[in-house]
Amino acid sequence: MNFSDSEIVASILADQNYEPTTDIKSADLILLNTCSIRDNAEQRVRNRLNELHALKRKHPGLVIGLLGCMAERLKDKLLEEERHIDLIVGPDGYRQLPQLLEQVESGQKAINVLLSADETYADINPVRTGGSGVTAYISIMRGCENFCAYCVVPYTRGKERSRSPITIVKEARELFEQGFREVTLLGQNVNSYHWDENNQPVSFPALLREVASINPLLRVRFATSHPKDISDELLECIAAHDNICKSIHLPVQSGSTRMLGMMKRSYTREWYMDRIAAIRRIIPGCAITTDIIAGFCSETEEDHEQTLSVMREVGYDYAYMFKYSERPNTIAAKKYPDDVPEDIKSRRLDEIIALQQELSLKSNKLDVGKEFEVLAEGVSKRSDQQLFGRTSQNKVVVFPRSAFNPGDYVKVVTLSCTAATLRGELAK
Ligand code: SAH
Ligand code: SF4
Repeated sequence: MNFSDSEIVASILADQNYEPTTDIKSADLILLNTCSIRDNAEQRVRNRLNELHALKRKHPGLVIGLLGCMAERLKDKLLEEERHIDLIVGPDGYRQLPQLLEQVESGQKAINVLLSADETYADINPVRTGGSGVTAYISIMRGCENFCAYCVVPYTRGKERSRSPITIVKEARELFEQGFREVTLLGQNVNSYHWDENNQPVSFPALLREVASINPLLRVRFATSHPKDISDELLECIAAHDNICKSIHLPVQSGSTRMLGMMKRSYTREWYMDRIAAIRRIIPGCAITTDIIAGFCSETEEDHEQTLSVMREVGYDYAYMFKYSERPNTIAAKKYPDDVPEDIKSRRLDEIIALQQELSLKSNKLDVGKEFEVLAEGVSKRSDQQLFGRTSQNKVVVFPRSAFNPGDYVKVVTLSCTAATLRGELAK
């Protein structure tokens, strides 16, 4: 999400004749786009701000701005705590950047942390910064109203709102015409996407179908799906289109129904497993990935064991795994003590990571010897004679370059693997 937001900001600033630079010392304006999801994300920003403070002492004209969720969460408190910051802008305030920068130029601090009920930046054509030229993100909705007990997103990103499908399809078509071969439709909860204009509702499956029909050579991915909205209709739509990738990110968070209840995830373990069974039935061979939180409030060894068992039962291909981090003002922070000791949280997280390592390796081993259509994304870091790309299941494959280039679809037979990567040769 933040990557995609930075591209929107770059576009707004390009219209004001700002140009990106890779040399930080020559920058006149430095904007940090920030995340508040866990405390360590905010600590990294604080460290970065200290480094920028040193830079500003050497270069007093330098303007430093803080964007995104941390700006929204801490608002003007940040201007008191970090006196070298000139500008604070929340996720819905980027259109105001030109005026806010003028205010800074006139010697004042500037801040806009208003959340909006309808801002989607639909008409802004993001500047594709530093990407491969093959894959791109398209933001299709903003905000979240699920209020999971642990999560700060509903407070920092505001109400859920979907973007007009016409602008989404136009953006995807233009990307394809520019040579891009894969788009990822982004939102906190993409499958609750909904647009209704003149009594003509557009659901997420309908939007996916439209994007997928731009061209069979355009791959379509999406993230993130909330388990409560992963309907059979959506799964059937994925199964029916070769170019909708066979990979679903379905954050489980915990395997314990008791924890899920306290987290306010609105599903039970059984309900989640029913959705996994539906994916396996409707889209055979689909990769499934997840997010997991270790050590949420009052989590017992029994709850933790249930997380490990749900991981084994699903056999995730990949997972993002976190230690619970209490975020101020969330439901959990108000209602429940953060009472799992740090050493126990760490041990549980280590066990989760070790198990996922095993599961990822097992999943990759099952793919060795098979043929895949790989979309080449770039030249391998280790050798310019090798390319890397991804399968429809989102697995990274490294293979001989031969006469291929990034953006090409290549048939590859896999020969070996680690838990993270497959290696292959060109199919005969
Ligand atoms: N909207 C997405 C996830 C957004 S945040 C969804 O609902 O699936 C990405 C992940 O960060 C979450 O899935 C969760 O696993 C993790 N996360 C969110 N808040 C957290 C917290 N307070 N502590 C630890 N992990 C957290
Ligand atoms: Fe956070 Fe839950 Fe919304 Fe995801 S669905 S962003 S975890 S509140």
